[in-house]
Amino acid sequence: MRLSELKSGESGMIVKVNGHGGFRKRIVEMGFIKGQMVEVLLNAPLRDPVKYRVMDYEVSLRHAESELIEVLNQQEAEQWEREHEMDATPVPAGSDLLRRATEAKGHVINVAFVGNPNCGKTSLFNIASGAHERVGNYSGVTVDAKTGHFEQEGYRFNITDLPGTYSLSAYTPEELYVRRHIIEQTPDVIVNVVDASNLERNLYLTCQLIDMDVPMIIALNMYDEFLESGNKLDQDQLGKLLGVKLVPTVGRTGAGVEELFHHIISIYEGHGQFYRHIHINHGQIIEKYIDTVESLVRVNPEPHHNYSARFISIKLLENDKQIAQIISDFENYEDIITCRKRCQQDILNEMQEDSETAITDAKYGYVQGALKECFVNVHKNSHSRLMTKTIDSIVTNRYLGFPIFFLLLYLMFYCTFNIGQYPMDWIDSLVGWLGKSISNSNLHGDGPLKDLIVDGIIAGVGGVIIFLPNIMILYAFISWMEDSGYMARAAFIMDRIMHKMGLHGKSFIPMVMGFGCSIPAVMATRTIEDRKSRLITMLIVPLMSCSARLPVYIIIIGAFFAHHKALVLLGLYTLGILMSVLMARLFSRYLVKGDSSPFVMELPPYRLPSWKSVFRHTWEKGRQYLKKMGTTILVASIIIWALSYYPRYENSSDGEEKASMVANSNELQMKNSYIGQLGQMIEPVIRPCGFAWREGVSILAGTAAKEIVASTMGVLYSQTDAETEQLDDEAADEARLSGILRKSGMTTLSALSFMIFVLLYMPCIPTCIAIKNESGRLKWAFFTIVYTTLLAWVCSTLVYQVGSMM
Ligand code: GDP
Ligand code: MG
Repeated sequence: MRLSELKSGESGMIVKVNGHGGFRKRIVEMGFIKGQMVEVLLNAPLRDPVKYRVMDYEVSLRHAESELIEVLNQQEAEQWEREHEMDATPVPAGSDLLRRATEAKGHVINVAFVGNPNCGKTSLFNIASGAHERVGNYSGVTVDAKTGHFEQEGYRFNITDLPGTYSLSAYTPEELYVRRHIIEQTPDVIVNVVDASNLERNLYLTCQLIDMDVPMIIALNMYDEFLESGNKLDQDQLGKLLGVKLVPTVGRTGAGVEELFHHIISIYEGHGQFYRHIHINHGQIIEKYIDTVESLVRVNPEPHHNYSARFISIKLLENDKQIAQIISDFENYEDIITCRKRCQQDILNEMQEDSETAITDAKYGYVQGALKECFVNVHKNSHSRLMTKTIDSIVTNRYLGFPIFFLLLYLMFYCTFNIGQYPMDWIDSLVGWLGKSISNSNLHGDGPLKDLIVDGIIAGVGGVIIFLPNIMILYAFISWMEDSGYMARAAFIMDRIMHKMGLHGKSFIPMVMGFGCSIPAVMATRTIEDRKSRLITMLIVPLMSCSARLPVYIIIIGAFFAHHKALVLLGLYTLGILMSVLMARLFSRYLVKGDSSPFVMELPPYRLPSWKSVFRHTWEKGRQYLKKMGTTILVASIIIWALSYYPRYENSSDGEEKASMVANSNELQMKNSYIGQLGQMIEPVIRPCGFAWREGVSILAGTAAKEIVASTMGVLYSQTDAETEQLDDEAADEARLSGILRKSGMTTLSALSFMIFVLLYMPCIPTCIAIKNESGRLKWAFFTIVYTTLLAWVCSTLVYQVGSMM
């Protein structure tokens, strides 16, 4: 608990003092150090300050200050002891117990990873915590903070992987997020992950962290690439200049991670000789004005909402709105703001540059200066740079760029189908065998239970589970393209087109991620700084055909378009893309107001993706898919089966009619079941698209998750299946499948129209929830549902009606 939470008369032992440099030092000097007992003498509610006794002195602290001190009282210590069952030794009494628990709790270190996008934070995080987070070779894969644990040398580390940022200003959600995390969560040590092959840009963020005056260490990551480049760096010297220890690491292999954490411990325990607070020198003029503003900020008692006074002053000069807001409760707020204005004007007069630019330039200048002293760039064109340049000249070539891109997409779909076919056949025959052997067994006799297992569970779940290999192949491709750095190029060559849509090249990444699953794709839009582009991207992401729709295509394409599989599939995906282009243009012109602002597109160097990471990610997706099978799809299949099984259709015919009735009984059962009735109810609406009630039911069911469209088809058609199978057991699989579909009234044309409908109609409910959360408005989720469904209806109807005429 925090010291501020202790009531009058209570006492506790100090575990940790949070907060930054100057404040922390003063508190420690007053005697608030780890292992000391503090007693609250007087803590009246709403009374500031509070009186404490520590080391036999009476000291008074303000609430804001005591909030930064972590303490442990008797009850908490006992609870800790119970939870952790320390050793087998008997529980000591009184202060010994407190001491032991304090000791243990003091061995918990909160660490946060901060760094530029793509510098390897997540890789390091995964190595340290054993987690399986997504790594990717483009900016902004990590949009949320992830936490993990790790133990070393008797310490337990709570590690947080923060989103990548170039700076700590308040322009993007990531920047604000990182800043807020550092301030509000007060991590004990910050690990600034730095890409060693790109020091200049990475150290800019380091300078801002130094301004914040937080305990930190630098992980000099990508050290393998750095060594290979042959460049030279005097790490000790750079460390001394910055006042921060540097530890070389390799995020891919985990080299250096142990040493990194070793040094984190020594910084935490306060004997890292290296860590000292320096001031980034912004040059005489700027420093003068920083001091001027700072002197006014310092009038207010520390801690200034956990920010260091210097950081507040610099940020004020940089026009940071959030900081201005935060200090608005300072008594001399008006004075500070007036002073800032004057200083900014003076900087403009003296330097012919606005203060924001001047400060940024000064920081870069500082970094360059530091690097000049300890960094030697041997080959400006290292091997990897040359390689990147060569590959780039081909894949981003004006003429070759697009053909290569589409060739890769074609290859991706081709493999998804043709390589996926083999494992798919195995699983298929396994599922078929399972269904048959259960239905032939006399174990439970005939009846609802057997029907449930065979026609409900096996047909439904089995109908979707066979696509596991296809989905994993698709993900392996997407993952490989992201990791290698190609995806960023794809975004780059798409940039011009995206601009025509009123979007950015950056929007392209969420769109391609949409081929996998719309939910992470919607979340990935957070990396788009521009509000307008962001919202539009979110709205059109569902038009990207997600992998859950793949099973439907595979079933139908296999049955009706067996000779042009990959082509039809590519066509569907392209239709989705074209529709998204159209919609984006419409939205940016008529719906979402505002101008889009320019931005910088990152082109990371090419890296051969590690197979481990591709494999891990692919498997992760496969696992999620399987999990979905066992939960959502299973339940949905059972419900749909039950709705199609009841009410039982009574065969009331007599004598001669019976023969023909048997053939039709399944059909009639389906039609009269609850679900059949539901399907028939919406049939008038979907008839123009060429659909009958079966398609209607599949579409309705698919709103929970798109896989359910396929599993519903599995359940609905399996009952027609039973007889067909006896007719031609020997026929080829595809012919059989197409036979079943045709028998229930589907034609090549309505099959096409159906696939288009499934492609375009409303995204699954979880995606709608994601859109609501990311846009902050329920209205955008509803809007997406309405416009996509309308679009699907119009397109399908057009295709079907025009096709019928021809
Ligand atoms: P983040 O954006 O900072 O979280 O970076 P990621 O962890 O996603 O890594 C970005 C890319 O760099 C991935 O392709 C990683 O495989 C790769 N990578 C990470 N650390 C290293 C390293 O130390 N050496 C090399 N050569 N590649 C690395
Ligand atoms: Mg990351």
